[in-house]
Amino acid sequence: MENNKEMRKWLDDMNLPHPLVIAGPCSAETEEQVLKIAHDLKDTDVNYYRAGIWKPRTRPGNFEGVGAIGLKWLQKVKEETGMKTATEVANRAHVELALEHDVDLLWIGARSTVSPFIVQEIADALEGTDKIVLIKNPVNPDLSLWLGAVERLYSANIKKLGVIHRGFSTYEKTKYRNIPEWQMAIELQSKFPDLPIINDPSHITGKRDMIFDVSQTALDLNFDGLMIETHHDPDSAWSDAAQQVTPNTLVQIMRDLRIRKETDEEAEYNSNLSNLRAQIDVIDNQIIDTMGKRMKISDEIGKLKKKRNVAVLQSNRWNAILGNMILEGEQRGLSEEFVLRMFKAIHQESINHQEKIINK
Ligand code: PEP
Ligand code: MN
Repeated sequence: MENNKEMRKWLDDMNLPHPLVIAGPCSAETEEQVLKIAHDLKDTDVNYYRAGIWKPRTRPGNFEGVGAIGLKWLQKVKEETGMKTATEVANRAHVELALEHDVDLLWIGARSTVSPFIVQEIADALEGTDKIVLIKNPVNPDLSLWLGAVERLYSANIKKLGVIHRGFSTYEKTKYRNIPEWQMAIELQSKFPDLPIINDPSHITGKRDMIFDVSQTALDLNFDGLMIETHHDPDSAWSDAAQQVTPNTLVQIMRDLRIRKETDEEAEYNSNLSNLRAQIDVIDNQIIDTMGKRMKISDEIGKLKKKRNVAVLQSNRWNAILGNMILEGEQRGLSEEFVLRMFKAIHQESINHQEKIINK
């Protein structure tokens, strides 16, 4: 698959004055609920009305979606409000039903993107249609798997494409439900700048009061749109209650977000920007140079340890370094999380260097 403008034509043709907005409940629950939320969202920035019809739940026994009947409710949404509709499909039968009921945009969920068999089945079922298909990142942070899914659809002649960044599972407990790993979304954008990328702050955060900040970060990183779960009575929602916002809150979020331009031609801005970037380039080179020097010293320590037959890892020493660096970092405005990540990476590289020497 090559980067090409064809993939984002559907979005460019919409000529939106704001990021693309996909909103609606996590799950379709009842006809009244689906229509109530749709009418509340009718005259807002929302471009596509979402509702999950088949819900992939981590463990059985929870509400697993209303099934095909919900597609009739989405048809009503379209008739009554004129809004386009969107839902998740996870197999051939879902695709066929969604097509029969004229759903406008289909997305592939995070738990499906991990399975090339499922993605291929969906791609085959879609072949020859002109639906918009968005592919959520797989639950694990694997860029190839994510891109592989996009390629399977592209090869099935689905050219109205896009991806949804919904964060990644970790064993580690963090403030997020699924950690964003922004770096992956940035890498994807730099490889495929014409592939629309939508952020899903609802599934990244799992908490409604964090949605604004994550949305703002996404827009600052040039994302093309947002998918935000919206429910008229979030606390009573049958799935993902903690992360859904009301239609009013959604409108407020959209109003408060600062939508930034990708570039600006203004001369002073550009000269200031190049000056600052030149400074960053110098510092980045210094960082690499310093790291190289640090690892050389590490190699020397490796040689000493080898001579005396001492283990590579000394936990006390490592904990002392970490503690010091967190304090030093704090004084320079660096978050503990960043310092920890950075030093874990440096430490790992150091261990790799010493292992090589000791086992030579
Ligand atoms: C959803 O959008 O409701 C959903 C199930 O998302 P994900 O596939 O990201 O978990
Ligand atoms: Mn959900």
